[in-house]
This record gives sequence, structure tokens and C-alpha cells, in this order.
Amino acid sequence: MSSAERQGAFIIVGGGIAGLASALALAPHASSVTVLERNSRFQEVGAGIQLSPNAFAALDELGVKEAVLTRSIRVQRLTVLDAQSGGTLVDFPLDDRFEAQFGHPYAVVHRGALHRTLLDACRRLATIRLITNANVNGLTEHDDSITANLADGRVFVGDVLIGADGLNSSVRAQVVGDGAPEPAGHVVYRAVISAEQFPADLPARSSILWAGPDMHVVHYPLADGKSFNLVATRVEPVNEMFANRGIQAAWVRSAFASVAPPLRRLLDAPAHWRAWSIADRAPVHTWHRGRAVLMGDAAHPMLQYAAQGACQAIEDAVIFARLVGAVGANDAVASLGPARAGRTARVQQTARWLGDAIYHPAGVPRRARDVMLKSLDHAKLTASLQWLYAWTPDNGLALANTHATHDGELIRP
Ligand SMILES: Cc1cc2nc3c(=O)[nH]c(=O)nc-3n(C[C@H](O)[C@H](O)[C@H](O)COP(=O)(O)OP(=O)(O)OC[C@H]3O[C@@H](n4cnc5c(N)ncnc54)[C@H](O)[C@@H]3O)c2cc1C
Repeated sequence: MSSAERQGAFIIVGGGIAGLASALALAPHASSVTVLERNSRFQEVGAGIQLSPNAFAALDELGVKEAVLTRSIRVQRLTVLDAQSGGTLVDFPLDDRFEAQFGHPYAVVHRGALHRTLLDACRRLATIRLITNANVNGLTEHDDSITANLADGRVFVGDVLIGADGLNSSVRAQVVGDGAPEPAGHVVYRAVISAEQFPADLPARSSILWAGPDMHVVHYPLADGKSFNLVATRVEPVNEMFANRGIQAAWVRSAFASVAPPLRRLLDAPAHWRAWSIADRAPVHTWHRGRAVLMGDAAHPMLQYAAQGACQAIEDAVIFARLVGAVGANDAVASLGPARAGRTARVQQTARWLGDAIYHPAGVPRRARDVMLKSLDHAKLTASLQWLYAWTPDNGLALANTHATHDGELIRP
């Protein structure tokens, strides 16, 4: 694309996965891309992240699939176990057949490694300016431009502004104006343990989910199997948002006491845990106002139960850049929501459904869950994942309208 065809100056608020993926995707279309990050460094908090084939299809379009894969671990199985009995509910191989079916692999990666790969790729492009200590607290619309206003008084002017500033997005406050997210009433406890601390009787190369009444635990390997990411979630009546809070190991042990022995040994291992209260929002159709558009968690924050928040953010970035290339920057701003909101709404609702119906049920609903999961053979499981994992940038645009949902309608996998 010649510079004459380039679509102007893009301002991106937020240098997380959505913001950096978007910068990378837009660089070929833009005269300039400016990423404004409020922190003093570009960095990711937390340990691991699971990336499904749809994310790798998007990373491929960004030219960083292989770089991410070299820093990832390809897990061998996705397994769901009953947290109390230890019995197997689902065991899904992530083998060559899986990759052939969905076109790309499933892998787990350290968040920092994914973020750094995107950051390094952005740094190699002269079109992209990466600015830290840039806390955006307002936008001003003009007839032919938009201004990001920083808390310290600086302003950045562009043709289009992308709000990629996460769950508590200040851009969303101006675009949608739906207030602060409500806590889901679920608390996530995270820890990383060494390979020596990982119980020998548990599979080390799998992504495992233990489902129990009002709780579940996920774990998978990191850093070439030298460490393991543990995420233990509990339904708790919290009504405040908090993040990265230090928690005593003894408290977590007692909170998750009534679990099967191998899981108890695993949860006994960490010396330290950190806790987050989590939130999502109901899907919205409106993703833009004037020259500003939302992306990633700012547009569609979801519970982490489908392991898709970052995957969907990377998809957003790729589709927005394709729209810019196809219809120009201004029309792309208005087109992203219609192109994406049906799919991301379905993922948001699927994540809630997974929590309620699959990961946390007790009593009779738990037995119904067991019957349903055990009836899923490999073919049925593969078919049920098709809509989510077989996404590519090409079919993502073509299918944009077939996922359309209405407010309150739940489309299950
Ligand atoms: C426990 C847990 C496990 C998860 N596991 C997975 C998984 O396995 N797979 C998956 O795909 N997803 C997973 N997710 C979801 C994933 O982490 C998020 O969806 C993803 O990180 C969202 O990226 P983002 O860039 O949209 O937002 P964020 O990561 O929140 O980034 C927003 C950025 O904007 C900056 N910012 C905020 N406000 C401003 C401002 N006013 N001015 C300037 N900068 C600002 C922030 O500092 C930050 O750098 C998980 C989430 C949780 C909580």
C-alpha cells in the first residue's frame, strides 16, 4: 500500500494485548499509529494464557504466529475432571487430528511472552509510536479529528481513536456510558509452582480443569514445563472489585478443602497466592461513537471460563484492520461492532454458561452436567467447538452476520 492510500493517524488507548495487536494490524494501513499506555512500562500482569486455533489464525495474519509458538507449549489434551471424585468428565486430545480439523494448534504461553512478542514486532515498525505514562481521561470529537486528553494535560490528535483500555475502559465510559462493571461474585486465586512441586500423578502436558460445586481449578504447564500456572476460582459473595491481592496459602487450602486428593496436593503446593475479583458485562451492540471505537475487554469483557478474552481481542484487531483496508478508517469505526458483536456476544454468554452449567453446578444440576458431558464423543466435541475454534480472518468477515444475537438471547455451544 502506498503512503497516499494510507488511512491516516490512529490513536490507540491501552497497550495490552488488544492495543498492541491492533497497532500491529493497522501499521500497513496507517500514516501513523500512536499507542498510549498509562503505565510506566508496557507489561502484562499474571502468568499464563491459553490460545486456541482461532487466536493463532489471527496471529498468523499479524505475522507473529511462529514467534508466539516458539515461546508456547503445545498441550496434549484438554481434560475436565470432577473436583470431588477425581473422575474424568471430558478428555479431548489436541493432536494432529485437532490441528488438521481447526487449521491451527492449541497452545499455552506466558502472558509476558505473548505481550513481548507483539511489543517487539511493534517496535520494529517505524509507523508505530509507543508512549508510556500516558493516562487518557477523556476524548474530544472534532469535525475532522479526535483528541485523546491525558490526565497530565497533554493531548494527542488523530483521525480515529481505538479504546483498547480494558475492563474499566475510560473510552467506553464516553462511547457506551454504562457505568462500572459489576463484580461477578467470583474470586480467582492465582499461583505459579515449579515442576518439582507439581504432583507426579497428574499429567504434566495437559490443560486440566477440575469442576466442583461453586468452584473450579485450571492448571497447565508454562515455560517449557519448568513451571505450572494454577488458577483456582470460587463463587464468593464479593461486591467489590480488587486485583492482585496477597492471600495466605492456608486460607486457600481451607477454602478448597473438600477436593480429591491429587487436587488437594496440587493446591497445597504454592507458598503464595494472589487474588482477583472478576467481572464481565452483558454484550452491547454499540461499539463506536463518532471517530472512537472499542476493542478487546473494553468492548466485550467476559469471564475467563472459555479462555477467550485475549483470543477475541486479537481477532478484533485483525478484523478492524481488514475493514480499514476495505472501507476506509471512518467507515471501519462504524462497521467493527456489526462485524464482531454477534460473535463476541456469543463467547461472553458461553463463558457465563460454562461457569453456571459446567464448572460450578452442585446437586441435581451437577448430575445433569455429568450425563451431558459423558454423552459427548470426540465427533460431537469437535463439532461443538467448530464455531469458536475454526474462525479465520476470511470466514470471520464472511460469517459476521450469521452470529447475530438479540439482547438476552443465549446461544449455547
Ligand atoms: C484469570 C484469567 C485467566 C484468563 N485466561 C485467558 C486465557 O486462557 N485465554 C484468553 O484468551 N484470555 C484469557 N483471559 C482474558 C484476557 O486476559 C483478557 O481478555 C485480555 O488480557 C484483554 O486484553 P485487553 O488488551 O483488551 O485489556 P487489558 O489487558 O486490560 O489491557 C488494557 C491496557 O490499557 C491500559 N489502560 C487502561 N486504562 C488506560 C487509560 N485510561 N489510559 C491509557 N492506558 C490505559 C492498561 O494499563 C492496560 O495496559 C483471562 C483472564 C483472567 C482474569
